[in-house]
Amino acid sequence: MSAKIISGTEIAKQIREELKKEIVELKERHGVTPGLATVLVGDDPASKVYVGQKEKSCSNLGIYSERIDLSGNISEEKLLLLIEKLNKDSRIHGILVQLPLPKQINESRVICAIDPAKDVDGFHPVNIGKMVIGEKCFLPCTPHGILELLARSGVQTEGAEVVVVGRSNIVGKPVLNLMLQKRPAGNATVTLCHTKTKDLAFHTKRADILIVATGYPKTVTGDMVKEGVVVIDVGVNRIGKTPEGKAILVGDVDFESVKEKAAAITPVPGGVGPMTIVMLMKNTIQAAKNTI
Ligand code: NDP
Repeated sequence: MSAKIISGTEIAKQIREELKKEIVELKERHGVTPGLATVLVGDDPASKVYVGQKEKSCSNLGIYSERIDLSGNISEEKLLLLIEKLNKDSRIHGILVQLPLPKQINESRVICAIDPAKDVDGFHPVNIGKMVIGEKCFLPCTPHGILELLARSGVQTEGAEVVVVGRSNIVGKPVLNLMLQKRPAGNATVTLCHTKTKDLAFHTKRADILIVATGYPKTVTGDMVKEGVVVIDVGVNRIGKTPEGKAILVGDVDFESVKEKAAAITPVPGGVGPMTIVMLMKNTIQAAKNTI
């Protein structure tokens, strides 16, 4: 068996078409143009790429975007002042501070400084708390993108054994919470694994849906999954460069061996990545709608 490929590129395209209509309506009916501020601190190459992709996505959709590049040795105080200014700026509906931040800055303090109504990354404790208790809020983009990928590929989560590998605050923990919510795009039985899990393969072999976000290539190989599993590979690992100088990307799953047993699998690149960006756009539009 060779798995069906779940294309995040294609699904993100469909969602962008839906969003374009919403933006036109917001502009024509309400005179509101959604606005996103992206803040990049320092010159980490991967962060630069991510911020660039987010800016490009805004401009393709007709979202106003403001990019603020700050030096890597900026003080926490100055960054907090900037956020305060953006919180008050009526052209800006969403604020995204690209993580990770340099060591001298307390990430948690920065996230908490963002107005929860503009927290389109869904990282503010107010939004996280609402997500956990199932209230309306901005959902974190990557986990929300995973839910959309599954739903739009016709994968039922209700009653499924979902195994998540990785317990970060931005992927593993929110995915766990969303999958166990009492609603059709949830209702799963969820297991969360991490580096202290005793027998990772025991758990991954039980999964109907396996979501892997560890940050290491080949964390999961073909011998660790059952026939017919649906695999969502969140990982993005740079393992070298092509002769043309382009980064070679692989996920956290050994695609070649796992695809032989899986019913469906996301590729890297072109799986979860495009979904993360489009969900950020969706949250920004929602933030603008909330101001009407
Ligand atoms: P973190 O490093 O914050 O977390 C990794 C988690 O994986 C930790 O909980 C760690 O366990 C666990 N882990 C690591 N190795 C193993 C292992 N061998 N067995 C079991 N658990 C393991 O990573 P992130 O969640 O931020 O990112 C994960 C991956 O997803 C990265 O490749 C990242 O680039 C990618 N990513 C992709 C996005 C996208 O849009 N496509 C968005 C965000 C992330 P412990 O807690 O015990 O240390």
